[in-house]
Amino acid sequence: MACWRRFRSPIKIVIFNAMSLGLYIHIPFCHSRCPYCDFAFVVGQTHLAKRYTNAVIVELQHRMQSARSAFNTLYFGGGTPSAIPPRQLARILARVKNAVSPDAEITAEVNPNDHAHFEKLREHGINRLSLGIQAFVDRTLKALGRFHTASEATAACHAARTAGFENISIDLMFGAPGQTCEEWDTSLQRAIDLCPEHISVYGLTIEPHTNFARRLQKGQLDLPIETDQAAMYLRAIDQLESAGYAQYEISNFARPGFASRHNRKYWRDRAYLGVGMGAHSYLDNRRFWNTHDLMAYIQRVEAGGEACDRAETLTPTQRAIERVMLGLRQRRGLRANFSRHPKIRKHYLAMAKRDLIEQIDDRIRLTRRGLLLADWVCAELVRDL
Ligand code: SF4
Repeated sequence: MACWRRFRSPIKIVIFNAMSLGLYIHIPFCHSRCPYCDFAFVVGQTHLAKRYTNAVIVELQHRMQSARSAFNTLYFGGGTPSAIPPRQLARILARVKNAVSPDAEITAEVNPNDHAHFEKLREHGINRLSLGIQAFVDRTLKALGRFHTASEATAACHAARTAGFENISIDLMFGAPGQTCEEWDTSLQRAIDLCPEHISVYGLTIEPHTNFARRLQKGQLDLPIETDQAAMYLRAIDQLESAGYAQYEISNFARPGFASRHNRKYWRDRAYLGVGMGAHSYLDNRRFWNTHDLMAYIQRVEAGGEACDRAETLTPTQRAIERVMLGLRQRRGLRANFSRHPKIRKHYLAMAKRDLIEQIDDRIRLTRRGLLLADWVCAELVRDL
């Protein structure tokens, strides 16, 4: 673990010609608490949406010293950005308008049940929707504690198209309690039939301190066995690729030209600014992040313009480790010369021998088998750094 230290001095960004900078805005409000979620979110607090938006705008002003074009991607994540009135997102967009390039990818994560907001979101300039659907099978949705049904999920996809979105992403989740491989196939096929430009596929992970973690501990969570979870993931790769979606990252698939420009910054070691409760930033080799407490965030920004909790400057070694860990998540992999590093070579050869990693031309990437053990393979490669 890095050496954390309390961050005290304010961080401002001076924007020169940083046309590849990403801007992330965190909207923490959710309608309900999903039993597997450990994100930074709050429930039952939407009455604070306007005051929170005011704070986000103040933090943006504080961070940006210049309003010249800088951001080529903007991402409203959460939480659930569609849980608050679209006019609040419009106010944030108006504030950054002059700093966003005209061809920017502007994404909002949305809940299927908020489809009444989609038209307004499009009108306000958002050009990409990321729909948190998770499944097109009612039994799976119920097991995941989601409040929408499969038919509402389908209706939300149609509503997004009707609202004018030409870049739609659907999130699906496998490994849900009680989920069968056939049910997973149904969700995948339904997603493919709806022809979104992008599909993300995540395996359920049980995070500490969540409702699912407690149920698992008590033996009350009937998760699919590991071989079924692996089969679900490999079926996703096969079905999506044969339907024309290229896998460009471990969990992400896109039609040509529709890979997420914003998320790719995270895997390619690019700079981004995060604003809002719990938001993380990565600028000038430095990471810093805001408090995870909603009222603390609002009050600190109201008092002083920012609510940064901690920061760290990455050492060259930390940076090298992150480049390997993040770079190998991408299907294009990493330049092969990294494997010649004296502290990596031995582990690289061992992984290659076990058919977990492969070289194609001048790049190295995880094999199909390696994808199933990605975290472990990446950690092994950098263990001596
Ligand atoms: S809607 Fe998303 S952010 Fe909110 S609780 Fe559910 S998974 Fe977490």
